[in-house]
Amino acid sequence: METPWEQRYAQRTQRMASSAIRELLKLTQLPDIISFAGGMPAPELFPVEAFRKACDHVLDTDGQFALQYSTTEGYPPLREMIVRHTARYGIDVSIENILITSGSQQALDLLGKIFINPGDRILVEGPTFLGAIQAWNSYGAEYIVVEMDEEGMKIEALEKALRSGPKFIYMMPNFQNPTGKTYSLDRRMQVIKLAAINGVPIIEDDPYGQLRYSGKHITPVWVLDSQSRSNSGEGYEGNVIYLSTFSKIFAPGIRIAWVIAPPNVIGKMVQAKQGVDLHTATFNQMAVHEVSREGFLDRHIGNLRETYQERRDLMLESIEKEFPESIKWTKPDGGLFTWATLDENIDTRDVLNAAVEKKVAFVPGVPFFPDGSGLNTMRLNFSNAQPDKIIEGIKRLGQVLKDQFY
Ligand code: PMP
Repeated sequence: METPWEQRYAQRTQRMASSAIRELLKLTQLPDIISFAGGMPAPELFPVEAFRKACDHVLDTDGQFALQYSTTEGYPPLREMIVRHTARYGIDVSIENILITSGSQQALDLLGKIFINPGDRILVEGPTFLGAIQAWNSYGAEYIVVEMDEEGMKIEALEKALRSGPKFIYMMPNFQNPTGKTYSLDRRMQVIKLAAINGVPIIEDDPYGQLRYSGKHITPVWVLDSQSRSNSGEGYEGNVIYLSTFSKIFAPGIRIAWVIAPPNVIGKMVQAKQGVDLHTATFNQMAVHEVSREGFLDRHIGNLRETYQERRDLMLESIEKEFPESIKWTKPDGGLFTWATLDENIDTRDVLNAAVEKKVAFVPGVPFFPDGSGLNTMRLNFSNAQPDKIIEGIKRLGQVLKDQFY
């Protein structure tokens, strides 16, 4: 039934279509389906007991503060902890550079709110994170999509894209969502150099950086950028805004993430956030701070790495064994995903329909490409399925592919 509201949606609301794929993915939540579709951490690894103790401690020692309204910037001890924590990776900032957000998803939205005018072009990786597109569509963003190879965005394509005047570059240097790819040091430096030459700033989204299972840590873009500027005598200008989150290293339901940016940008984000939710739940921030103390978070991340590494290895081995030969897939050094590229004439949305019949699911690649390409690609998550399910699910998917598409 039509209500008085349908005719009154703002123009931006018209860009908020719920995709056919999201509808399809609802099917993947049926209980007997083996789903590689979500981007979810393994729930059996959530540190429920440690969290329960931390919540009790917060309520016992500072319950009234925890339940009161608070400042938009975030709980100072948590911001201080983030300063210490990121210093380990060479990100040298102070608490004025940090804003706590309700998930990195909110940070993406706030960045859209303060930076994007209708028609602004944002330079993104092809494929890119679906949630960023969803956040920025409502602000009227257009996208310049730069294809990637195994080391990151292709340089020639990036040079060309930069000439068309993007507002900023959005990149995920570590174990990208959706492909699992990681930028080499060399490619990071090239991107930074080209961005600087063209005067275009960078958003570095890094939810997975600590979930590395093989290979060596590579210096964050934020750090490389500030080093290159101080070498050239320019001094640090805050060309890179850095995002990360507790969602993948602790628990996504807690909705705590952080932004690192120059203080004036933090100030604008604070104003934007006041219109959204005033501040991120103080109790949650205090509980995360409490649970992370005394090395608990580091030990926990160590456990996550061990389990996810096993699952990654198992998924890659299973794919090798079960998928038709001409399919290519990424071999991620960390994160939660691998990404498969099928023969060009295959639409993975058709594959998903057939796969759901056989009770296995993944995400077709199309929604990760704002230019509508990538029909023959798919994202597979390995963190959220038990080993026996990984083996069985990939076997079923391989069978569907061989029986119906190859
Ligand atoms: N950025 C990227 C690249 C992600 O993969 C995710 C989670 N899937 C987010 C941001 C948002 O994470 P959250 O809002 O849970 O912090």
